[in-house]
Amino acid sequence: MKYGRTYNFSAGPAMMPEPVLEEIAAEMMNYRGSGMCVMEMSHRSKVFQQIRDEAEADLRKLMGIPDNYKVLFVQGGGTVQFAMVPINLMKNGVACYVETGAWSKKAIAEAKKYGEVKIVASSKDKNFSYIPDCSDLDIPEDADYVYICENETINGTTYFNLPNTKGKVLVADQSSMFLSRPCDVSKYGLIWAGVQKNVGPAGMAVVIIREDLLREDLDPKTPVYLSYKTHADADSLYNTPNCWAIYCCGKVFKYLLDNGGLEAMAKKNEEKAAILYNFLDSSKLFTGAVRKEDRSLMNVPFVTPSPEQDADVVAASKAAGFDNLKGHKSVGGLRASIYNAMPREGVEALVEFLKKYEAEHQ
Ligand SMILES: *Cc1c(COP(=O)(O)O)cnc(C)c1O
Repeated sequence: MKYGRTYNFSAGPAMMPEPVLEEIAAEMMNYRGSGMCVMEMSHRSKVFQQIRDEAEADLRKLMGIPDNYKVLFVQGGGTVQFAMVPINLMKNGVACYVETGAWSKKAIAEAKKYGEVKIVASSKDKNFSYIPDCSDLDIPEDADYVYICENETINGTTYFNLPNTKGKVLVADQSSMFLSRPCDVSKYGLIWAGVQKNVGPAGMAVVIIREDLLREDLDPKTPVYLSYKTHADADSLYNTPNCWAIYCCGKVFKYLLDNGGLEAMAKKNEEKAAILYNFLDSSKLFTGAVRKEDRSLMNVPFVTPSPEQDADVVAASKAAGFDNLKGHKSVGGLRASIYNAMPREGVEALVEFLKKYEAEHQ
């Protein structure tokens, strides 16, 4: 790796594509003759307006977002979306949630403050190691939406088939898989993603929302910032947005477009994940934590026979120049997050390291 950089397996903030960081560095002191850095720029300036507009246009192109959807750049990261979704979409005050791990649990806890939450499927019985069958959910007639966390960052599961929502609006938290594979936006009412996992710097979420879900009739006490309509009406410039994150994300959108788009990304991600999973499947020391059919291509949790050995592997990996392989504190073990920007060589090097460790600890 150039610049003495390390293979960083963090779940987020995570690696960014190196060419993008180089471009940002080159534009740091004087963005394209503007005489200033993007950090110093008025969000009302023409030059920033162009950055924002291009970012949106490029994302629309990348995902093929239909015209009847708005794209919003909202501050507060992912966590604010746990509240914004029920605040804006609970009209009847009833919502269905699928419980698949740490992040859907947080979404459920927040939604309960605003209305009735029905957990229509759960994988709690097996420690969230699989995606439950969502082909025939018991969805009440008055449900406002069905919510999923499409890739559970901590537990390492992902949906390869979307739930049958029986005509209700599908809402998905795509934070840790956003732009990792093609996505048919028309199947969703709302997609949101905190960008620090697979796209850019922390502190912002991208929200893609079907226009008919924007509402005027929210509780009058709703903070103005928490209404999706506020952001839709102002093109995400209601107040000072996270200009820096919008700029960096825009660079990543362009980078993905220039490198074959989401089809090409999906192919690379499948190949990378296969390298790691094939090793785990053949290893006698390391075991993958998730049912095969539901394994995430982005977050790969695995364990050794004991927490002590897990800790030993983490320490040895750090000494060997890898970073952030420790599993989340809530589940333990190890976890390799291999988002879009993790090069194939990084995954290969990790597997070589794990093989060597295994050989030395038989
Ligand atoms: C990281 C993450 C979040 C929370 O994002 P913050 O920006 O830290 O609030 C929510 N959902 C998923 C799936 C995540 O991976």
